Amino acid sequence: MANAKRKAARNPARKTARKTARKTARKTARKTARKTARKTARKTVRKPSARMGSRKDVYYFGDGKADGDGSQKALLGGKGANLAEMSRIGIPVPAGFTLTTEVCTYYYAHKKTYPKTLEAEIGANIAKIEKAMGKKLGDLGNPLLLSVRSGARESMPGMMDTVLNLGINDKVVEALAAKTGNPKFAWDSYRRFLQMYGSVVMGVEAHAHEHHDPYEVILDKAKAKASVADDSGLGEKALRWVVGEFKKLIRKRAGKAFPEDPIKQLYGAVNAVFNSWNNDRAKVYRQKYGIPAEWGTAVNVQAMVFGNTGNGSGTGVAFTRDPATGENVFYGEYLIDAQGEDVVAGVRTPKQVAQMAKDLPSSHRELLKIRKILEEHFRDVQDVEFTIEQGKLWMLQTRNGKRTGFAAVNIALDMVKERLITKEEAILRIPAEDLSHLLAPIFDPADERKATKIGSGLPAGPGAASGHIYFTADAAVAGAAKGQKVILTRQETSPEDLRGMIAAEGILTTRGGASSHAALVARQMGKVCICGAHDMNIDYAKKTLSGHGVTLKEGEYLSLNGFVGNVYIGDLKTSPSSVIQGLIENKAAARKSETYKKFVQLVGWADKLRRLEVRTNSDTPDQVKTAIKFGAEGIGLTRTEHMFFEGDRIDAVREMILAEDQKARAKALKKLLPYQKKDFVGIFTALDGRPATIRLLDPPLHEFIGTMTAAQISDLARKLEVKPDYIKHRITALHEENPMLGHRGCRLGIVYPEITRMQATAILEAAVAVQKKNIKVQPEIMVPLVSYSKELELQKAVIDEAAAEVRKKHGLKVGQLKYQVGTMIEIPRAALTADEIANHAAFFSFGTNDLTQTCLGLSRDDSSSFLPKYQDAEILSANPFASLDQTGVGQLVEMGVERGRRTKNKLKIGICGEHGGDPGSVKFCHRSGLNYVSCSPFRIPIAKLAAAQAVLEERGLARAEIS
Ligand code: ADP
Ligand code: MG
Ligand code: MG
Repeated sequence: MANAKRKAARNPARKTARKTARKTARKTARKTARKTARKTARKTVRKPSARMGSRKDVYYFGDGKADGDGSQKALLGGKGANLAEMSRIGIPVPAGFTLTTEVCTYYYAHKKTYPKTLEAEIGANIAKIEKAMGKKLGDLGNPLLLSVRSGARESMPGMMDTVLNLGINDKVVEALAAKTGNPKFAWDSYRRFLQMYGSVVMGVEAHAHEHHDPYEVILDKAKAKASVADDSGLGEKALRWVVGEFKKLIRKRAGKAFPEDPIKQLYGAVNAVFNSWNNDRAKVYRQKYGIPAEWGTAVNVQAMVFGNTGNGSGTGVAFTRDPATGENVFYGEYLIDAQGEDVVAGVRTPKQVAQMAKDLPSSHRELLKIRKILEEHFRDVQDVEFTIEQGKLWMLQTRNGKRTGFAAVNIALDMVKERLITKEEAILRIPAEDLSHLLAPIFDPADERKATKIGSGLPAGPGAASGHIYFTADAAVAGAAKGQKVILTRQETSPEDLRGMIAAEGILTTRGGASSHAALVARQMGKVCICGAHDMNIDYAKKTLSGHGVTLKEGEYLSLNGFVGNVYIGDLKTSPSSVIQGLIENKAAARKSETYKKFVQLVGWADKLRRLEVRTNSDTPDQVKTAIKFGAEGIGLTRTEHMFFEGDRIDAVREMILAEDQKARAKALKKLLPYQKKDFVGIFTALDGRPATIRLLDPPLHEFIGTMTAAQISDLARKLEVKPDYIKHRITALHEENPMLGHRGCRLGIVYPEITRMQATAILEAAVAVQKKNIKVQPEIMVPLVSYSKELELQKAVIDEAAAEVRKKHGLKVGQLKYQVGTMIEIPRAALTADEIANHAAFFSFGTNDLTQTCLGLSRDDSSSFLPKYQDAEILSANPFASLDQTGVGQLVEMGVERGRRTKNKLKIGICGEHGGDPGSVKFCHRSGLNYVSCSPFRIPIAKLAAAQAVLEERGLARAEIS
């Protein structure tokens, strides 16, 4: 699951709404899918307090039964809930139990201790596992081993800890060898256990100064002695030696031996998993995806099944469809004679899952059946883990597969066609932000044909990326901090590399497959990624990347085509995506592409559903034309001052600012009027009848003259026939200590009403001119930075006067030149007194940039030095200038809406801050009863999709609950 919808966490609807489609029997899933989607039931999440006295902290699954089910992700974590659900629908799952996220919360609230009743509950559930599996923990006849795994509400792949093969010790290993007649397997399991338990629970890991993992050093020695390449080549004798060495290593570094008692081992592992919720990489991940620290993780304790018992056994991971492209093919990898970690860690190169048809035919057939059952039951692409022990297939995990933006769109629309899901569900499943991937540029085909290809790998994250290569996450972060585009280039990535991956434009690995860490994370972050480029070679010591006889050094340019997996030297030119080519450039060929067609279809569905209007923030006719092609329904914000900088207008603007009296100012304004009129004619014409909110002059005047060079000053002095010193003197006089809170916005118009009059005249003269061409115009003149209703009243009077003059000049009646006057709500006082302000306003538009600055007392331009620290410390989960602070600033918005409409119940209200293109904020605007949002042209499809999702969420559907 990807990023944006995590903000749904802040959606109160989440707490009350739950879907109950889960129990749909698998055979009828297909038929009832659409029905159940419509029939949503509400079920209140149980609060801990409601269960006081009768705590249930442990949920059993296995044997075709389960205490919990797939809907309980908040309580059981995603992994636990889905293991329960799989067990319920008859999928073979090794028996186990889940310790709930409430145990985690308790653990942290009570100095890392557990509820008193927990021990007894765990004991009873171990007995259930023993019965189901016919084995006993610590038994010397037929010993049971356990896996202990984390599992948060949202999956956080690889971020927390896992311990496998728990319950083994010096005696149990012999029993296991005797019972199975396979001593190699028994000793392999033991060494795996020591390796994981030693590092995860006892903290014996590579020291900072060590380049190699100490366990791997021992394994490498053993392999060298035995002259084998793979871990799986080690025999019993070698493994006995490895176990002895591991024990010595642990005793030496931890100062004590590992516990032999399986129950002690179990509690050690459970503690470690709970502790891993707060490890550094889990925190970084939570921050990136806005997962609250309070959620906590569940712990899953489950009977081990063994893929490392010879050639009839194996383990793998698979996606029910291709997670990079969305193509409907079974997609995955596996290893014979291995345990799960081997596939993901890249210690051996896995085989494509199709190959299983030859190696393990009956398990392969069964897996294909399960693929179908799981997709039909969960009605979404599943990402599964499986293990085959001596021909018997077991499923260890299933979850909704993380996918790229391309795959998200393809899969959702295909599944509608397959009648697996409804249009509404399709809309909910595509994280709105992901549409930006479909708009991202591709390589220019001509440039790509000429480029030198130096390698190829699996196309794991589609898109085009170029940048400087760096071989460590730290170097990549440093490069990006210098403003470089960066390609993180590694043999393989691990969770430690997360920061570097976030900083990079693209990721290249030379090892690992489609389920490797790099592929998984890149998919989720929407990064361009090529993994497993086996024909390339990285030398970390020399900091070089080579392929096809070419060697590149750190910092040199590389280009990745993540659609096909090609790696090129240099910085290739890019061209627009097929969606942009089809939509904006009207190219017929692009319009035939599957992506374009699906994109258009999806946005069409969103248009039918949404109630929020989507407008654009655009300042020029060209931008407006582009925005309309993206589907803009009008302008939510035109900033008139942007027009002031063009050509020699700036001279007239400066003359106006420097004017010492009204007469001189009027003269300068007269020069500006025709320019402004011309601009508005262009905009109204491009809008072709759609409404346009035009903001009057907003920035402090100093902004136009404060940056003048000495040459510009003397040039202007000549033109104005004044002394340069005079200009310098005016610049000093206009200087402000704190311009953001200074003489700007309507404060300019109050002091210099002639500026407002000129702008209003220009807007209305333009309106008249465009009307004459038989094009409808709807000017909405917006007064910025109002705090007092009187400010708006006075400005409106000036505008109305200007309008009366324009009408008189052209002989028009009132009905023949229509316009509205409204205001921005961007100062807390305006929100608080919205009822008074509404008396003079035909509309409100929330200027959430300034509203955030003034509500938080935080300057956007001066906060970059400390905001990252605030995010690290989890004071903020997101940048409040990117994602609206709903709990704080949001109250001002709600208050402004409520009070404004108390005075005028039909008051038109929109938002024109940058937040209008942020999916979470768009949903908030919907819930707050706004009429429209406005955003930059490229964000329009994203805002539309989010607006449609808001309607569905209001009906009680939420993406997280469609699993
Ligand atoms: P992650 O969340 O990082 O995928 P998991 O908790 O899924 O971690 O476990 C890691 C690996 O351990 C998986 O690849 C899986 O194959 C293996 N594993 C987990 N539980 C069992 C089990 N009961 N029997 C065999 N292998 C297991
Ligand atoms: Mg897993
Ligand atoms: Mg503002």
